[in-house]
Amino acid sequence: MKLLILLFLIALSFGGDYPKHVSQTLKKIKDNVYGVFGVYEQVSYENRGFISNAYFVVTDEGVLVVDALTTYKLGKELVETIRKITDKPVRFAVITHYHTDHFYGVGALKEAGAEIIAHEWANEYVSSPSSWNFYEARKKILKDHMDGTEMIPPDIVFSEGELKVQMGETVFEVKHLCRGHTPGDIVVWIPEKGVLFSGDLVFDGRLPFLGSGNSRTWLKCLEEILSMRPSVLLPGHGEPMLSWEKIEKSVKWTYRYISDLRTVIRKMIEEGKDIDYVRENINEALLKINPEYAQVPVFFDVNPVNAYYVFFEIENEMIEEGQ
Ligand SMILES: [Zn+2]
Repeated sequence: MKLLILLFLIALSFGGDYPKHVSQTLKKIKDNVYGVFGVYEQVSYENRGFISNAYFVVTDEGVLVVDALTTYKLGKELVETIRKITDKPVRFAVITHYHTDHFYGVGALKEAGAEIIAHEWANEYVSSPSSWNFYEARKKILKDHMDGTEMIPPDIVFSEGELKVQMGETVFEVKHLCRGHTPGDIVVWIPEKGVLFSGDLVFDGRLPFLGSGNSRTWLKCLEEILSMRPSVLLPGHGEPMLSWEKIEKSVKWTYRYISDLRTVIRKMIEEGKDIDYVRENINEALLKINPEYAQVPVFFDVNPVNAYYVFFEIENEMIEEGQ
């Protein structure tokens, strides 16, 4: 009996926590708009890398997918999930940014017939040595979950402004609003439905990662998102945001964190502090402005990393300003 209970407990702790198939997380968000939702964690072998969201929209003329999840296998499960809803062809997959958790599954979407749309920067990224470092690092953690995963460049790229994709009655505006979370963030906007797929530009009370884009232009991007006034905002991580109040709160939260961090670092640089000082004191300085940051998951670990990148960004800005 004891053994049985023990086995049951082991089964619970290893078997119950994570979805075994992407389709178990499927949610219908609005007519013809669906999402699958990864856990809000770092990549681990146990979560199979299912830490990000992907979405799909079914139109009369086929399916448009937004983002491709973290591995080829998860991408395959995404395609199987789409097949549970519709047998229409998968025509396009828009990748909001070329970070591992959003584009490593593109191989499966291409096999399903999709053309991959991304920002021009994606091409630069897949051919850079640092992308291989990330690939090796992911392989170390995910091991066999990475089988079949390849870094595949997009088929259709653009750099400025927007690309319009019309499928049946539905018009998708694929836009590059700014250099924010990465140099090549794009969002997908369905004006007629008020639905915005925002990639990793908006976070719901979590810490955004500021290591590969630009914090100053990211703020401009958030202002633009507010001015679009979406009624549904579908982020790259976390829960869908289904009301304007929720969206406004999350966009403003993201804005406030980035601007607090920038303000504090600028002041420290003006006072002649160096990067080591900034990294060691940045948590305390931000908590002085807003003690609630202490409740934000991973704040104490990620905030100093963000500070490191923003320090050099602001230093450059000050050189440009002639200070
Ligand atoms: Zn992400």
